[in-house]
Amino acid sequence: MLRDSLKFTLSINIFRMKLKGIIFDFGFTLFSFEDPSVEKYFDCFNRGLLKSIELLKDKSVLKEEDEIDQDFINAFNRKRANSFKLAMKTKEEFPTTLIFKTVLTFLKEKGYNVKCDNLKDELLEEMAEIYHSCEESEWKPFSETKMTLEALSRFSDLKIGLISNHPNHKTINNMLKSNNLRKYFDVIVTSAEFGKRKPNPDIFLYTLSKMGLEVNDAKDCIMVGDEAADAVGANRVGMQIILKKREYEFPYEREITIPNLIVIKSINEVLNYIS
Ligand SMILES: [Mg+2]
Repeated sequence: MLRDSLKFTLSINIFRMKLKGIIFDFGFTLFSFEDPSVEKYFDCFNRGLLKSIELLKDKSVLKEEDEIDQDFINAFNRKRANSFKLAMKTKEEFPTTLIFKTVLTFLKEKGYNVKCDNLKDELLEEMAEIYHSCEESEWKPFSETKMTLEALSRFSDLKIGLISNHPNHKTINNMLKSNNLRKYFDVIVTSAEFGKRKPNPDIFLYTLSKMGLEVNDAKDCIMVGDEAADAVGANRVGMQIILKKREYEFPYEREITIPNLIVIKSINEVLNYIS
């Protein structure tokens, strides 16, 4: 009964407003991570890191005969954990490419024979892509994701965007492309590319401007996400919000205190609010 009345309110709102844009979050909104657990998550990244180290040896940045692997892994994991903590606090992103660069410089200063003075951006990007490659096969779109985006793409003057807090832009693009979903988006923005994370309002305003919209258009746009960072950030710039309920709770879950929040269980329910 409560859900029906909320639905009615937003339908009226959206009917009255001219819906100009809809922005989706990526993780747990459009895609799900199969059976998530801390162990699985770390195992996935450890495998990626070992592959990245192999690439560095192939490219002669690291010497095959140097016993550097464990120090590299320790330095990388330490730097990544610290960067993540800082990112959560400051809402600034520390891209994976930057973490690799910092770790290589650190190991060189520690006395290892690391050839990192003229590291090309392409190599750093390749390392970051390999590091995140295992993640690419774990994230799968929800079964309703494609039909929802397909239906939205039929509204010819509706702009469709995506904002993801992710430290590697290419990984998000790869996952959309490999699932044949990239074509539905006018704009893809990641915190890796922009430098700031949701809920910082700047990343929402930047995305709207890339969609050809202005600050004043925010009230005529919807943000669809699964966590506080999505809802709080979108609320700060005056967007409408639809919260997709997640099956799993995050250990650091923050309560969302925005009034009259529209909550959906399945992504295709977004279509119920658009007319
Ligand atoms: Mg999410």
